[in-house]
Amino acid sequence: MQTKLLINGQFVQGEGSPVEVVNPATGEVLAKVPEASGEQVSRAVEAAERAFAGWSQTTPKDRSLLLLKLADKIEEKAEEFAKLESLNCGKPYAAVVNDEIPAISDCFRFFAGAARTMNGAVAGEYLAGHTSMIRRDPIGVVASIAPWNYPLMMAAWKLAPVLAAGNTSVLKPSEQTPLSTLMLAEILAELFPAGVCNVVTGVGATTGSSLINHPKVRMISLTGSIATGTKVLEAASGNMKRTHLELGGKAPVIVMDDADLEAAVQGIRIFGYYNAGQDCTAACRVYAGSKIYDKFVSELASAVSSIKMGTQNEEGVEMGPLITARQRERVAGFVDRAKAQKHVEVVAGGGIRTGNGFFYEPTVVAGAKQDDEIVRKEVFGPVVSVTPFKDADQAIDWANDSDYGLASSVWTQDVGRAMKIASRLQYGCTWINTHFMLVNEMPHGGLKQSGYGKDMSVYALEDYTVVRHVMVKH
Ligand code: NAD
Repeated sequence: MQTKLLINGQFVQGEGSPVEVVNPATGEVLAKVPEASGEQVSRAVEAAERAFAGWSQTTPKDRSLLLLKLADKIEEKAEEFAKLESLNCGKPYAAVVNDEIPAISDCFRFFAGAARTMNGAVAGEYLAGHTSMIRRDPIGVVASIAPWNYPLMMAAWKLAPVLAAGNTSVLKPSEQTPLSTLMLAEILAELFPAGVCNVVTGVGATTGSSLINHPKVRMISLTGSIATGTKVLEAASGNMKRTHLELGGKAPVIVMDDADLEAAVQGIRIFGYYNAGQDCTAACRVYAGSKIYDKFVSELASAVSSIKMGTQNEEGVEMGPLITARQRERVAGFVDRAKAQKHVEVVAGGGIRTGNGFFYEPTVVAGAKQDDEIVRKEVFGPVVSVTPFKDADQAIDWANDSDYGLASSVWTQDVGRAMKIASRLQYGCTWINTHFMLVNEMPHGGLKQSGYGKDMSVYALEDYTVVRHVMVKH
């Protein structure tokens, strides 16, 4: 198992404390991965800064060809990557190999193409005797901090647009799930010039903090919690680093009285519990029309009770454990506090599965009210709340009454109604009669405390470049 850091094209042992990496389905320790020391983080940033001079001058075609090769190599090793990822995250192997790996290689392929289409907006004579043009140029060293829920996919989202645009990178995976990114580092070292891509591991308070506070980092990109987002902004304020933040969500799901009920129930059964609900777009906060509420709750409860929970390779497994014992405790705490309220009824799940691993039952909390903690706070686990509403205005108001603004969905058979509601939702994305579907051509990113900055799409290339004006006197 590859546990070394990648700094300036070389694999080196971390000089900091070892961090245990665990299989969440069993609790067994898979590896001890030493952290990068502060000095090693510095070396990585300095290598990236040196490499920037050459890399930023490569042609889009050259960068594109390397990204295409990277995509091919990931596909060649799809099964190996999927095995490692499912082992480290506890998630079903089939989901990683069939859903995640193809999306990851497609992300590199999309940005390989997009790199060659980047252009400035105008060129012309805006002052007599002078020609002005707009350029989009790379920024410099980007420090990327990834979370544990989709480690390799987040590495792809953070590397592909950064490299396509001509920046260099120091990437830190989550200390809980570094293994697939460390394996990716082997391919990065083989393909890219020394220093262009560096990978350092370690916990946030030490390695992460050294990285985001380094004065030569020009931009910090984070997917993680609001608390870490705040630390990134503090670090950025020191020398005006740019920032790109994706900080979670609490997606509202509005099920109108005229919705195709079976489709809505099946949709939430999948999109509320995929990755054990550890997803910032998870369909977790349902508002159901009062006419269909009782039927909807009863059908959802029975659908969710049929989700097969288990270890990575169990036959037919749909949902794995939570990432850590701590995360499971956090999830159980939310459900226990919800249960203690008289108006709430837990109609599916609601408990820890005893035995090995950090399993928590897929859970439906019915009768939750708008001000309940379970409706307002991000649980990041397999828990969906359902709240009845009286009319569309109330559903829209409640959906928007949130600190978060990442993703949302509306379920109705009336296209006009769907469009009207979508136009009033304050979310980075609104799906109609589906949820959760991401494509590399379309942007992913939020409003409010969900952060800002877009992953995927040409908007990510814009985020990782700067607009410059060049003027020529005739
Ligand atoms: P986190 O923010 O603590 O960790 C995310 C990444 O940030 C990790 O790589 C971590 O090492 C790093 N980090 C932490 N502190 C840092 C610091 N001071 N400086 C630099 N880097 C630092 O998130 P978490 O504890 O793993 O998860 C907690 C919550 O975050 C979740 O319950 C969920 O609400 C949210 N989350 C959101 C997403 C998402 O996709 N938006 C993903 C994972 C977690």
